[in-house]
Amino acid sequence: MIQFSQGHITVYQSALFQTTSTVIALDEAILIVDPTWLPSEIREIQAHVDSIKGSRDCYLLFTHGDYDHVIGYQAFPGAKTIGSLELQRHPQKERKVNLIREFDANYYITRDYPIEFPQLDFVIAQDGQQLAIGNTSLTFYKAPGHSEDSLFTIIDSLGVFIAGDYLSDFELPFIYHSAAAYESTMQRAAEILQNHDIRLLIPGHGQHTTNRSEMFRRIHLATDHLRRLKEAVIHGDEAALEKLGEEHAFPSSFTKECHEENIRIMRREYMGELAADESIHP
Ligand SMILES: [Zn+2]
Repeated sequence: MIQFSQGHITVYQSALFQTTSTVIALDEAILIVDPTWLPSEIREIQAHVDSIKGSRDCYLLFTHGDYDHVIGYQAFPGAKTIGSLELQRHPQKERKVNLIREFDANYYITRDYPIEFPQLDFVIAQDGQQLAIGNTSLTFYKAPGHSEDSLFTIIDSLGVFIAGDYLSDFELPFIYHSAAAYESTMQRAAEILQNHDIRLLIPGHGQHTTNRSEMFRRIHLATDHLRRLKEAVIHGDEAALEKLGEEHAFPSSFTKECHEENIRIMRREYMGELAADESIHP
């Protein structure tokens, strides 16, 4: 379903995990971001793109390589793909593809396009790298922490900030990569809000916002949770850890596992404990 539509920008929200997909009509191209989840939802996005594109080329941007964000890759054949160098070098591409196959098998889902891990036409290697699409400039910032391959994308001419799996209105940090990197990425997000005229923030899960104080609230929501989690990990405060786990919206075995993974990664980074088990990483 459409969560937001204004001018050239349409944000779709999947029934699953409130995952967003975004379509932006640029002057000389159509930018599609993370088209996802169910076949009917992807068909809705395809139909919209077909109805507006005319003779323009399509560009497909992946905010990161988690399987919910790359599941629609081959639904837009011929689109030029954009992602980070870390996504291009992803060490577990086969695993991501298998997660999609398993998801589809579990729910008897069939798709009219093949499932593959994205191959990139435009690789973002540098923090702050820009890409010109016609007369529109996209600026990318590396955003590690949730995953190593995450990217922030800024479109200054539209005041748009595409955040990937950060800055949700309700979803607390899921650290699959690094807690320290996640903290730095939140600082980077604050710098972006200071240095760019951001008028629309689109997270990977949850609601967009046009309100600047809400944007800063989300940075605080994540940073504050991570700070208290770090304290509790360092002090081995089991009661506090348990309470922090209860802060997740939509409590489930999924959020419980994510919370435990957050703790494992923090223990590894701050207490020098053994490598985290990454088996839950989507
Ligand atoms: Zn996601």
